[in-house]
Amino acid sequence: MNNAIAVRRRQALQRLDAALKRLRDGEFGYCLECGEEIALRRLELDPTVTFCTECPSRT
Ligand SMILES: [Zn+2]
Repeated sequence: MNNAIAVRRRQALQRLDAALKRLRDGEFGYCLECGEEIALRRLELDPTVTFCTECPSRT
């Protein structure tokens, strides 16, 4: 398999895993930086986002 694709797939899985963990912990949908709720539209576009639009995104 193309190595770059394998790396991207692994990173996507890690992001999903982290999102599921936050879901279990009741922290899903909140910005990791400021703790504000992340806009629903943003979560619908990418459920693995961890920052609101006000904070610098690391993703
Ligand atoms: Zn924020």
